[in-house]
Amino acid sequence: MSIDTEHFRVALLEERGRVEKAIANLRDDHPGAIDDEVEVITGASDNHLAETATTTLDREIDFTLGANSGQVLSEIDAALKRIEDGTYGICAKCSKEIVPERLEVYPWASLCIEHAREAEHR
Ligand SMILES: [Zn+2]
Repeated sequence: MSIDTEHFRVALLEERGRVEKAIANLRDDHPGAIDDEVEVITGASDNHLAETATTTLDREIDFTLGANSGQVLSEIDAALKRIEDGTYGICAKCSKEIVPERLEVYPWASLCIEHAREAEHR
């Protein structure tokens, strides 16, 4: 196993904190009163990591987070559990290692790129 699970464990815990905070913000604030915590999340789901902050997608962020934040949280928890089990970074379908580049963008990924695409098109 060539994956640095400790690195991704930290990334997952950070991401988990961000998502929880974003959910709390969504509940407390008016939509549109988006702070940079939320921008970070959009950056991550947009194939870029935290360095990229987009401000033009506020409305989409609201929508995406409202619809997906709970799901992302449970996926993050599942990924943390896979790290404990020693199965982190392994595609749930074909048991191949998920490329680290993908895990950098989606640390909670449970499928390789090929099977994630397949799942999306279902
Ligand atoms: Zn696969």
